[in-house]
Amino acid sequence: MCGIVSYYGKKNSVPFLLNGLRRLEYRGYDSAGIAIMKDGSIKTVKKAGKVNKLLRKIKESPINGSIGIGHTRWATHGEPNDTNAHPHQDKTGKIFIIHNGIIENFSTLKEVLIRKGFIFKSETDTEVLVNLISDIYYADGLNFEQAVEAALNQVIGTYGIVTFCSDEPNKIV
Ligand code: GLU
Repeated sequence: MCGIVSYYGKKNSVPFLLNGLRRLEYRGYDSAGIAIMKDGSIKTVKKAGKVNKLLRKIKESPINGSIGIGHTRWATHGEPNDTNAHPHQDKTGKIFIIHNGIIENFSTLKEVLIRKGFIFKSETDTEVLVNLISDIYYADGLNFEQAVEAALNQVIGTYGIVTFCSDEPNKIV
């Protein structure tokens, strides 16, 4: 079963996230990843396999920042690989999401987004959701929280999500 951890505070979030992901390992997972917001931009590191592999990747290319989200994935849509691992980002690279669960109507939503010009890199239902949020956020004049709520009103399924947007720093939804 997948897991979500997030940190919002004054310290570097990375150790908290990695510690949280380790504590969730017993639930079972196939990949892990984190996204960190710092100075108005968000960077992500993700990796198929154990949290230790993610840790090694972070040691090679360190990131830090005081707002972060982390995920252990149990694949339901797409292979367990680096591309399908969470977090996923929208087409602007400003919105990131992690997601537990299933978006049942993801293929219908994906077709609509593809017709609007969205391009998908992963096989996941999650990448559909983050781009749906993006489509609403950048078109409808809503704030980020409202856009997330509006997107979830279109979603059929069971899910837990954590998402943030570099256009609205200092906020996790
Ligand atoms: N459905 C999502 C995926 O396949 C989330 C799976 C999970 O709950 O970890 O990436």
